[in-house]
Amino acid sequence: MKGYDPIKLTEKMESIVVDGNKRKYAKLSRPLRFYGGTTSAVEVGCNLRCKFCFSDKPVFRPQSTGKFYTPEEVFKALDKSAKRYGHKLISASASEGTLGRQHLFELLDLVELSEYVYILETNGMTLGNDKAFAEQLAPYKNLHVRVSIKGTSQEEYHELTTSYTNIGLVYSIMQDIEKAFDFYGKAIEMAKRIGAYRQVSFVQRKMATAYWKQQDFDKAIQYYQEAQTTCERIGDKEGLNEALQGLAEAYLARDDLALAESYAEKATETAMEINTLQAISASQITLGRVQHNRGDLQASIELFEKAINTAEQAGVIQQVAEANFYISESWLALQEWGKAEPHLLAAAKLYTKLKNTSKAKTVQHLLAKCKNRSKPELSGG
Ligand code: SF4
Repeated sequence: MKGYDPIKLTEKMESIVVDGNKRKYAKLSRPLRFYGGTTSAVEVGCNLRCKFCFSDKPVFRPQSTGKFYTPEEVFKALDKSAKRYGHKLISASASEGTLGRQHLFELLDLVELSEYVYILETNGMTLGNDKAFAEQLAPYKNLHVRVSIKGTSQEEYHELTTSYTNIGLVYSIMQDIEKAFDFYGKAIEMAKRIGAYRQVSFVQRKMATAYWKQQDFDKAIQYYQEAQTTCERIGDKEGLNEALQGLAEAYLARDDLALAESYAEKATETAMEINTLQAISASQITLGRVQHNRGDLQASIELFEKAINTAEQAGVIQQVAEANFYISESWLALQEWGKAEPHLLAAAKLYTKLKNTSKAKTVQHLLAKCKNRSKPELSGG
């Protein structure tokens, strides 16, 4: 199929939304009117990028959306809500139901022991690719598989399941940056032509992020500034917050601390306005890093402590890990090995959970150094 390979994207998505027998969900239960009434969880992660998809964050921002849950936790929440609304049908929707095979079958085992029928919502990609998967589903009696066919031919599939922005996103995830830029450029051109400025700013931010990943901070700044202007013009506060946060990070990477601080403060203001804890904690981390780089370590520690609390409240593991990592760096700079150690331990655990092996290794290295340095003090005391 031209465009992108859904099976490769399945693997990529599973590396983000699956952890052992756990899968990411944005919400564990909500009542829906479909099929005469059903209780449904909102799962995260899909292996297609349909033009008409209305799922938004669960499909397009899987890294920063939702939390990991075990099959037992999901079943318990569905059961509780289904009892409340008198539903006999339960399901998970808003993404692709077959991601996380182990999680799915453990969930189906629990459903099989209950009175419910589970509706497995799928686009059929994984089942069509792996006959054994379909055969493994066959014996389940309390299961109804609903395959949502997106097109009637390869061409129609391509047309309906892709658009310039989405293809750009897929290439970006697959780290083919040249092709990603090519499609992003076309997406901006087309969105401007039809006056879809929210989409223009979305793509501008994606292009900035892609340049950021290439370490081209000047270009990243250019696109974040364009996104800032677009968002201010149309009053898109969420987009504006993302652009300001991106600018703060880019200036920090260029070691322009005054501008990094100014943009991080503006990002904090917009994060408060849209009342998003995740965005607040992101700007607290950036402000902490600015203070650390300035050498005001006490101020940086205070900001990282705030960021840990905010990120924990938001349930964003990635940010909890980062805030713990950065606070340990500040404690290490103060030669407070004993104070750095618990934060390094927390960061190591979380980076391992997030499968971020390079960060986990860095933290383990610091941890070893920290233990060696704290020994003489312990024996001496
Ligand atoms: S298969 Fe469904 S969830 Fe996935 S992108 Fe298409 S419409 Fe969205």
